[in-house]
Amino acid sequence: MHSTLSPELEEHRSFCRAFAERHLRPYVERLDAGETFPPDARRRLGELGAYGLPFPESVGGGGGTFLAWAVLHEELARVLPVAGLYFQVSSIAAAAILEVGTPAQHRRHVPALFAGTSQAFLAFTEPDTGSDIGMLQTRARPTGDGGWVVNGRKMWISNAASADVGLVFALVDQGGDPTTGVGTGDELAIFLVDPKQPGFIVGNAIPIMGVRGTELHELLFEDLAVGPDGLLTRGRGAFDVLRRVMSIGKIGLCAMCVGLMQTCLEEAVRYARHRRQRGHPILDFQAIHHLVAEMVAALEASRQLTYWAATCRDQGIDAITELATAKLFVTNAALRVARQAVSVHGVYGIAQGATVERLLRDAQVFELLEGPSEVQRELVMRAVRDIV
Ligand SMILES: Cc1cc2nc3c(=O)[nH]c(=O)nc-3n(C[C@H](O)[C@H](O)[C@H](O)COP(=O)(O)OP(=O)(O)OC[C@H]3O[C@@H](n4cnc5c(N)ncnc54)[C@H](O)[C@@H]3O)c2cc1C
Repeated sequence: MHSTLSPELEEHRSFCRAFAERHLRPYVERLDAGETFPPDARRRLGELGAYGLPFPESVGGGGGTFLAWAVLHEELARVLPVAGLYFQVSSIAAAAILEVGTPAQHRRHVPALFAGTSQAFLAFTEPDTGSDIGMLQTRARPTGDGGWVVNGRKMWISNAASADVGLVFALVDQGGDPTTGVGTGDELAIFLVDPKQPGFIVGNAIPIMGVRGTELHELLFEDLAVGPDGLLTRGRGAFDVLRRVMSIGKIGLCAMCVGLMQTCLEEAVRYARHRRQRGHPILDFQAIHHLVAEMVAALEASRQLTYWAATCRDQGIDAITELATAKLFVTNAALRVARQAVSVHGVYGIAQGATVERLLRDAQVFELLEGPSEVQRELVMRAVRDIV
């Protein structure tokens, strides 16, 4: 297919593809079998510049674009669909610190996160809180000397067991007048927590059907002390930060789906060329042509939608609606394409160890990550409600 990207971006693609073949291919089956992503591989992602690529050099980033970041995710995901999740959590955490942190917080955390020498987790989800922020239960109480004590429980947290720093979403009292009730009530706050502090407890691991090796865990905070320099932001600002930084994650997620679809297509064509029925390779059958053509159309539409959303971000807008639109379409397309790739393979597509069987499981997880489709539909609808 003809590319509309610049020669520089195509060169970047080739470089990322070669990196993935060399440094990620060896882990694909081991991670799916339950191993975790090794520190050495994380270090290599740091050397590649994956963590900070779209952020300015002045803050320790790579000075690249979100479009280049999308291409990076896509090419790593072509080999290992989950690869982007290993570094983008740290990138998102660094982006949040850059947006609302103090200069001291920047200096302490951002360069190391962009270099990949420090890893972060981001803890929003709780047992009763999925996409509805109103259900949050984790609470932070002021200690009177500027510090805080955090109590609560988080679920489904990537990097939870290996991170050096964490961003924890918790409720704090607005601190109004309790006699009149004016200004009282809860507001959202984001804290920077140190996993080495007493009261920080890594709970059960959460095994899932696909996207394995992400080290998903439950986290418990039992009187976890946070110093005065640990409050990142609170109030309306905290909610806005969450929306903006999660939109960065969606660029990566869409691009990961594109990489996954590319492999589904390659696997389907490779299999159809070699599998023979009634004296012909099945690639000669019109039914297979139709399946493959549908896969190509979904892949290319998803690729362009992802590049468009990334370019919107490069043009300086939050791109929340654009990314919800892309996420809705692309993650559903990935599920469909993975299913079509399995269909081309017949029963061999559902055999344990088949590449397309693994990709179908990964595609199902991608659809649920970073807000399910129902939530994306609501975001898109909100943006067009008043267009006429
Ligand atoms: C691999 C992986 C890694 C993750 N990493 C992290 C992490 O690092 N940090 C973190 O905080 N979380 C993480 N999560 C959690 C993830 O972000 C949440 O699971 C996700 O946001 C949705 O939560 P939920 O499925 O419980 O959704 P819920 O909001 O409980 O939704 C359940 C279902 O209800 C429906 N629904 C919900 N809201 C609406 C609505 N408004 N309109 C219509 N229907 C609706 C949808 O069908 C949805 O599928 C991770 C999850 C996975 C799978």
